[in-house]
Amino acid sequence: MEKLKLTLQDGHIGKTTVPIGSVRVGEGFVIIAGPCSVESEKQMICTAIKVKEAGADILRGGAFKPRTSPYDFQGLGLKGLKILKKAGKETGLPVVTEVLDPRDVFWVTEYVDMIQIGARNMQNFTLLKEVGRSGKPVLLKRGMTSTLNELLNCAEYILSEGNPNVILCERGIRTFETYTRNTLDLSIIPSIRELSHLPIIVDPSHGTGRLSLIEAMSLASLAAGADGIMVEVHWRPCEALCDRDQAMPPEMFSMMMNKIRLMKKMINKIRGVDLRSIKNEDNHIEMETKSFSSHAG
Ligand code: PEP
Ligand code: MN
Repeated sequence: MEKLKLTLQDGHIGKTTVPIGSVRVGEGFVIIAGPCSVESEKQMICTAIKVKEAGADILRGGAFKPRTSPYDFQGLGLKGLKILKKAGKETGLPVVTEVLDPRDVFWVTEYVDMIQIGARNMQNFTLLKEVGRSGKPVLLKRGMTSTLNELLNCAEYILSEGNPNVILCERGIRTFETYTRNTLDLSIIPSIRELSHLPIIVDPSHGTGRLSLIEAMSLASLAAGADGIMVEVHWRPCEALCDRDQAMPPEMFSMMMNKIRLMKKMINKIRGVDLRSIKNEDNHIEMETKSFSSHAG
């Protein structure tokens, strides 16, 4: 790890915050939401309006989709990027999309506020160098069989090209477990915290692949100290062309956002409490918690 000159905490003052439009990732708990893929103008704009209303900070939507089968929907490409940009403009949300090919990096930067490097491309070093030179913020997802050390080395590739704006993303890794799509490694959050100055967010959608588990993992990410989450939301999940089983309906997303707000307040309150003073005073904590619920918006 001694070669990670730019990515490690050493010698770096404080924590990096990455500006994405008016949003600053690394301060507070940022919510990125939107469909897995851009499918049509109607689908994208309707979903964007819903996630914005619920309180999302950044809009996602894939125009180039890395699919296991070459016969599955591959994304709308340029048409998708134009739609994504329009949805961002109409809602005032900055936008992020994945790029698969180094040849696409330069021209795609015109349409988006942040470029995503997907799990399958985490160690595509040509692509990493290209996004490093692009000047755009980069959302770097952990490869599905990658170690923390490998993830940090990939961040180093981008930083060493002169791009300081890198956000790491835990999206689950392959294990022997089959109930979930991946195994979400939440221990990487405090691990990254003690090693690096870079912000880290969590993707509980790909991390679990199951709609019923996303809320619990989102709240757990907040509790573990993540800088935010990225959640797949679709205005009509049953019509989703990609990752239907994990597509969250807007009403469910809105309820989850309320829980996140409530939990954020509770965490802030806990931070201000002198832990020695609450010894054997469980009732006191319970009362404080109740007063939160009644004030939570
Ligand atoms: C995505 O976020 O659209 C995606 C394909 O995720 P991952 O690269 O983590 O599989
Ligand atoms: Mn997806």
